[in-house]
Amino acid sequence: MSKTVVVLGGGIAGIATAHKLLKHTLPKLPGLKVVLVSASTHFYFNIAAVRGLIPGEIPDESLFQAIEPGFAKYPKGSFEFVVGTATALDLAGNAVQVSAAGGQDRTLVYDQLVIATGSSLANDVPFKTLGSYDETIQAWHKLQDQIKAAKSIVVAGAGPTGVETIGELANKYGTSKKLTLVIDGEVALPALLPSVGKAAESELKKMKVELLHKVRVTGVEDAGSEGTKLSLSDGKTLTADVFLPLYGVRPNTGFVPAHLLDAAGSVKVDKTLRVEGQTNVWAVGDVNNVELKVAMRAESQTVHLFPNLEAALLGKGDAALAEYKPSAQMMMFVTIGKKKGTGQIGTFKAFSFLVSYMKGRTLFVEKAPPLVAGKSMIRAAI
Ligand SMILES: Cc1cc2nc3c(=O)[nH]c(=O)nc-3n(C[C@H](O)[C@H](O)[C@H](O)COP(=O)(O)OP(=O)(O)OC[C@H]3O[C@@H](n4cnc5c(N)ncnc54)[C@H](O)[C@@H]3O)c2cc1C
Repeated sequence: MSKTVVVLGGGIAGIATAHKLLKHTLPKLPGLKVVLVSASTHFYFNIAAVRGLIPGEIPDESLFQAIEPGFAKYPKGSFEFVVGTATALDLAGNAVQVSAAGGQDRTLVYDQLVIATGSSLANDVPFKTLGSYDETIQAWHKLQDQIKAAKSIVVAGAGPTGVETIGELANKYGTSKKLTLVIDGEVALPALLPSVGKAAESELKKMKVELLHKVRVTGVEDAGSEGTKLSLSDGKTLTADVFLPLYGVRPNTGFVPAHLLDAAGSVKVDKTLRVEGQTNVWAVGDVNNVELKVAMRAESQTVHLFPNLEAALLGKGDAALAEYKPSAQMMMFVTIGKKKGTGQIGTFKAFSFLVSYMKGRTLFVEKAPPLVAGKSMIRAAI
């Protein structure tokens, strides 16, 4: 009997899951149909956005890859690419409503549903897809133009994205632009060992980045030709030509019924990565409530999800489902420009040369084409 899997989201988790089903499950289950729904026609390799925002550093064609051509090799009728946004989920009817490009609404009926709609930044910085590809690329080029013209740039948020972004800007522009990093706490990179945050700060200071500690941006005002006026929690103000608020991550779950979400809006899953209380709905990657919202974890989850999803499609029963064990070890590399970096491996601080060798040289942007082609993710094969 033919089965339909609807996969929502054209990020690492969604694209790899769709390819895995077509590559490995379709031969065992003729008649399988995979429908991939993506708000954007293009996959966006976010990890490299922190360098890509500098005009000329990373071409658009490397950062944004068309998704559909990678699926052309599968048998006719086995794959459908729907450019659109999931807007509502009917669990009882096994159906998802999609507002498709061109203004039509579609109802997609599924046997199994995979929610892989990821997350957005809390502010509309185009470091993640902003709706369609056209909307994203327009916002992206506008930001690149603003960065080029700016004499002063303030980044707020000293997590990995904020630190990597200010590091790239300092590496490229040196003191020709005034660069400021607003750090909420005592030290940058608060989720990592204090020694890692201190190492990052030490590099940034050498590059003449101004570091403001224990303050938050509390107000943002358009100051016309003077740029943006920022009010700070210590009562002071700052003006900047470009302000990048790089804090806060929001799961893309507006279409998911509230009882399936935790307090932060992430989809609650059980140990098999199936949505709590559901028999045929799964959630993988940034969108779920399992662990840190980073690509490396999204990848591990995708690798784990696939045999469970396949077992469900093949009617093997719940006993065949394996439990996912979130990584207990902290592993994070934070680049500071192309040649420097810091990070954490377990309870150890990573050496700067290791981070720059492993990640800083290319920010893994070469991993995007094999992903959309269905060959590999960042480390794992598809
Ligand atoms: C600037 C930046 C740097 C990063 N650096 C690193 C790093 O160095 N290392 C690391 O491990 N991780 C990093 N990350 C995190 C990493 O990008 C995410 O963990 C990863 O992208 C998660 O993949 P995903 O497939 O779960 O979701 P996403 O990448 O968020 O993809 C979800 C997709 O679903 C689409 N979508 C959303 N809502 C809907 C809807 N309703 N209907 C249809 N489609 C929808 C979105 O447009 C998007 O294309 C970084 C993130 C950013 C923003």
